[in-house]
Amino acid sequence: MFKALVLDQEEKQTIADIRQIDESQLPEGEVLVSVDYSSLNYKDGLAITGKGRIVRQFPMVPGIDLTGRVLESSDDRYQAGDQVVLTGWGVGEGHWGGMAEKARLKADWLVPLPANLDGKQAMMIGTAGLTAMLCVQALVDAGVTPDAGEVLVTGASGGVGSVAVTLLAQLGYQVAAVTGRSAENGPLLKELGAARIIERGEFEEPARPLEKQVWASAVDTVGSKVLAKVLAQMDYNGAVAACGLAGGFDLPTTVMPFILRNVRLQGVDSVSCPFERRQQAWQRLTELLPASYYQQACREVELEQVAECAEAITNGQITGRVVIKL
Ligand code: NAP
Repeated sequence: MFKALVLDQEEKQTIADIRQIDESQLPEGEVLVSVDYSSLNYKDGLAITGKGRIVRQFPMVPGIDLTGRVLESSDDRYQAGDQVVLTGWGVGEGHWGGMAEKARLKADWLVPLPANLDGKQAMMIGTAGLTAMLCVQALVDAGVTPDAGEVLVTGASGGVGSVAVTLLAQLGYQVAAVTGRSAENGPLLKELGAARIIERGEFEEPARPLEKQVWASAVDTVGSKVLAKVLAQMDYNGAVAACGLAGGFDLPTTVMPFILRNVRLQGVDSVSCPFERRQQAWQRLTELLPASYYQQACREVELEQVAECAEAITNGQITGRVVIKL
């Protein structure tokens, strides 16, 4: 038997309990993993609190990220003892996830843990960090160079935003960080590499179709009116990598930035990102994130504290990353 956080539904309410689970209850998969760490993402928060329709069937073990050691594998790519990391693929949504001491998973979903990273560091990165890396890569692929001008990061004190700020600063970009919590998180964002901090309120006024050109590129984790404002302020030929909806899934914009300023809007998905791009992104993260990142923007909790942290992340009250020790 082993310990797991289990979500169930009673009268349409999601209930989160810590339970003892038998290995035979785990879903199918080629690889059995002893989980060392999971992490808390915005999506986990929505699943655990029941505020978002994330879980596809109950009971469900949440946790879209995990890292651990292979116990058994019927797939040639993995042997007992291998360290692995998993993010996405619907784990913690439709397949039991990382907030349990053991998980059974498909070999296709796993990535070998990069050599110069430990499990805890991998979860300090997690889906949020991987997504941030994919956003940064999207801007690099779009040909945006550090000398093009300022790059804006919205939702900057969140998991994705804080890693995006760090990565962009490490690559030599001038980063402007948008946050609704500048008094609380401004100093941290500066330590991570933001050159200036901008109040979120400035991005919540309705956008005109075109506004003064300010940003060479942007990483948006917020969506809705904030993304609309960002688009209206992009430089000619600017590129925006959009990955999130922390402020809403709508997008009250016009075609003007696209047809008059050649602005490019690139969507970024980390859940079904193919293995090769995923592995390259993990490698690049280990190269780019400085040792200080792991001290500055991360907090470790036990399974017992997850429900409380889940409520906080859905209320925009978490700074940086939360990792869960199993
Ligand atoms: P998070 O840690 O909760 O960060 C989100 C940040 O957005 C908050 O810290 C807050 O930053 C800001 N925010 C929160 N509520 C807001 C609101 N109502 N209006 C404007 N800003 C708000 O979440 P995360 O894990 O970084 O994820 C960020 C977003 O990316 C989420 O929507 C998540 O679903 C999405 N995501 C997508 C993918 C993908 O594959 N596409 C992967 C991971 C995450 P400040 O306090 O600094 O303003």
